[in-house]
Amino acid sequence: MKELRFYNTLTRKKENFIPIDATRVRLYVCGPTVYDYAHIGNARPVIVFDILFRLLRYVYGKEHVLYARNITDVDDKINARAACEYPNLSLNDAIRRLTERTYSQFQQDTMALGCLLPTSQPRATEHLEEMRSLIEKLLEKGHAYKAKNHILFSVSSIKNPPYYGTFANRSLDEMRAGARIDVAAYKREEMDFVLWKPSVEGEPGWESPAGIPVLGRPGWHIECSAMSMAKLLAPYGGGLTCDDPTANIFDIHGGGLDLIFPHHENEIAQSCSALGTERMANLWMHNGFLQVEGKKMSKSFGNFITIRSILENNFFEFNGVLTDEMKQNWAGLSARFSMLQTHYREPLNWTVQRLTQSSSELYRWYELLRGKKIIIENNEVLENTLIDVLSDDLNTPKALTLLRKFYKTGNALALANGMDLLGLLRQEWVKEIDSPLFIKKTSLDSKFIDKRIAERLRLIHNKEWEAADIIRDELAAEGILLKDSKDPQSGERI
Ligand code: AMP
Ligand code: ZN
Repeated sequence: MKELRFYNTLTRKKENFIPIDATRVRLYVCGPTVYDYAHIGNARPVIVFDILFRLLRYVYGKEHVLYARNITDVDDKINARAACEYPNLSLNDAIRRLTERTYSQFQQDTMALGCLLPTSQPRATEHLEEMRSLIEKLLEKGHAYKAKNHILFSVSSIKNPPYYGTFANRSLDEMRAGARIDVAAYKREEMDFVLWKPSVEGEPGWESPAGIPVLGRPGWHIECSAMSMAKLLAPYGGGLTCDDPTANIFDIHGGGLDLIFPHHENEIAQSCSALGTERMANLWMHNGFLQVEGKKMSKSFGNFITIRSILENNFFEFNGVLTDEMKQNWAGLSARFSMLQTHYREPLNWTVQRLTQSSSELYRWYELLRGKKIIIENNEVLENTLIDVLSDDLNTPKALTLLRKFYKTGNALALANGMDLLGLLRQEWVKEIDSPLFIKKTSLDSKFIDKRIAERLRLIHNKEWEAADIIRDELAAEGILLKDSKDPQSGERI
């Protein structure tokens, strides 16, 4: 079986991946809080872990991989937004309407981005019973305490590894200082965090655990511990009712870099304390952050981009009559292509130019496949080289470089198989003889080309070789080959 190697945040090094049980490889990824359209930053973990899911399915067999991605549908932001958007409904109805709407938007967005559906998408509101049991277990084992109708996790109750802070590599002093800013009076220690809190009057609430007499709601961190147990441990003989520590660990936990602390540190504290394990998951993978046109994405910078706006923006000029769905799917695949050009652990700079460049490159690939009438039944004839680069910590930029080689040498079958594995292939666009050609080639204008060349020279001057190479490849994909003379300052166009 193909050996996979991934960077593990837990050990801070690249390691061979050995599943606990190769017939049920288990992956959990923190999903969205459903109160608003997902933005393109949210699209990054969705795409990255979809690639991982596809690779695992390829290596271990489709039916042997379980992928759970949760939906957070209990949250203060949800309450506030619901009240604002549906003032005429009761708050509970408004919340239901908002979370349903946002959930289905998210499903449509991820489909357009070429992602497979995870095996399960547990929602917080459907797992309150498991959250209550988990909290009661933590109380029973002395890891939690009640205070003013809240239940808090006691960080100093952890006496065995994994010690609090080791995952995020933070010292107690550092964490205390971070937590000191706004400490609620009912906390014993500043780092203690909420497992359950009372609901504010008029807001949704559920029966509280441990005999607390008022309705309440779970904290964010406990949701993921409870849902990962429910979906990845319980059906396989693990979970709160099982004393076998080996049954109480799953294989891979993923999410964005921002979740390492406090969210994942707290998930580990909860799960390991309740189950008596040394690890919650064997492998932890985190995607780097996405910026927009070189800046942090933020509503206040005016560069906040939703996935939906990318899908609906009509960046491309299409030939022939296409349905909106086809146009959106094209935009989605172009966005996917564009993200795969950066390794998942690196920061990613999202630019419109990169999106259109990805679109025209993808277009040329489809043209080759359509010309050769390539039809893939299953991707069994994948080139080993492609699996090799993906097996090495999901190196998607290298995978695309290989696909470019297949394109250049006219190896349409290898190209199609590779595109299929990366989720870039829609069979119907190849098969139908008279399906419309999608886009008019977006040729780059000469001003833009000059700007990019100048930028690349600046990068070379600053010895930022990787970034410079990205521009070189980007222009090469447009048929503009740059050759550096001895003096890189005078890069010439050939
Ligand atoms: P949130 O909706 O903020 O809870 O985030 C959902 C997922 O998207 C988490 O895995 C985050 O780490 C990830 N995420 C949020 N913003 C970005 C960003 N700008 N770049 C990459 N990932 C992000
Ligand atoms: Zn989580």
